[in-house]
Amino acid sequence: MFRRLLIATSNEGKLKEIRKLLEPLGMEVIMPEKALEVEEGGQSFLENAYIKARAYYERYGVPVLAEDSGLVIPALEGYPGVYSSRFYSLEWGGVEEVKEGKDQANIRKVLRLMKGIKERSAYFVAFALLYTGDGGLWGEGRCEGYILEEPRGYGGFGYDPIFQPAGYEKSMAELSLEEKNLISHRGKALRRLLELIAGNW
Ligand code: IMP
Repeated sequence: MFRRLLIATSNEGKLKEIRKLLEPLGMEVIMPEKALEVEEGGQSFLENAYIKARAYYERYGVPVLAEDSGLVIPALEGYPGVYSSRFYSLEWGGVEEVKEGKDQANIRKVLRLMKGIKERSAYFVAFALLYTGDGGLWGEGRCEGYILEEPRGYGGFGYDPIFQPAGYEKSMAELSLEEKNLISHRGKALRRLLELIAGNW
């Protein structure tokens, strides 16, 4: 079993959630000395997870935990999808100016495009990949919910303030870290990956 994993991300929000989940299990999550600039040009979340994992593995030569995730909105043809982190900058749907930050620009764009749309179902999806050079194991997780009419709450990151998980009266940004990890796409993907690791090594 791998006890020390290099994490292929510099996203603070993701890092906090992953640490909270893995560290109680005795796994140490280490940050790269330097975040690599990786072009995530893949057509799918899993492909992007492999692109990031390989880049970090080639640079550091140790087992890498990579994660790729995003928000899928069927009413917007599946966008933001694999473009979730830079949706604001896409021509599709019109470029949104970055004022306070990228997350806020992404949120503004989604709310603008969803204005007046009744069908507001959406889901977050995550792929968590353990890459060891000679192969990888991965787990997928989804969290179903709805796009709110306006942002609510200050926790989490990314699109959390405009996402209401199914069965909840709160937005994802109004949940504690523990509550979010229990139901989130990332929590599910990591738990699935841990099951696979336990069964394969
Ligand atoms: P990437 O996996 O680094 O390409 O970025 C994924 C992007 O999807 C993030 O920058 C967020 O915009 C969005 N995202 C992924 N997971 C979450 C989440 O748990 N909450 C809110 N937004 C998320």
